[in-house]
Amino acid sequence: MSLLPPAGGHPPRAHPHLGGRIRFCVACGAELVFGKWERGDGSMQLLCPRPGCGHVHFLDPKLAAGVIASRGGKALLVQRKHNPGKGLWTFPGGFVNRGEVVSEAAAREALEETGVEVRVGPLLGVYSFPENPIVLVAYLGEILRGEPRPLDETAAVKLAGPEEIVPAELAFDTTRAALADWQAWAQDGRIPSAHPGEGGR
Ligand SMILES: [Zn+2]
Repeated sequence: MSLLPPAGGHPPRAHPHLGGRIRFCVACGAELVFGKWERGDGSMQLLCPRPGCGHVHFLDPKLAAGVIASRGGKALLVQRKHNPGKGLWTFPGGFVNRGEVVSEAAAREALEETGVEVRVGPLLGVYSFPENPIVLVAYLGEILRGEPRPLDETAAVKLAGPEEIVPAELAFDTTRAALADWQAWAQDGRIPSAHPGEGGR
């Protein structure tokens, strides 16, 4: 075989975001190498070494959407049933499908995970961290209809006030950052229905 890695390249299992699950070129089937993209911007990419192909397998960020839906000033949280983060808490959210409106993905996840209809908006923030492929778009929201119950990948649900959220019990960096912002918004009185006992609508 003449499919030698380019200088400085090595097998794709070293790629930090994938754990080696993407090994072969989708265009020609040759084994990819993780190396410097000399014909591009010099960044480290998954490259096809086969002459005449040269496909670059870009690994784009992965977009997730979530909603911190409140009722009576408390946030709807879900306990994860599976890894990553099994047993830890977050708010309803998940990956955005290609072509799907981001805010609608957040509402869909809330319905799938807890059975409630939520009104999504406004935007709380966009959360990303170094070496983490996931970019989370988090919205504020309001529970419109239904009683939250654990569905889909959810082990349990609860409504938690700003003072009841324990960072160590939360699943992800993005979750912690978004809920910290939500707590700050709540303390500023900027969360809808933030009056104890109002109980939604
Ligand atoms: Zn190829």
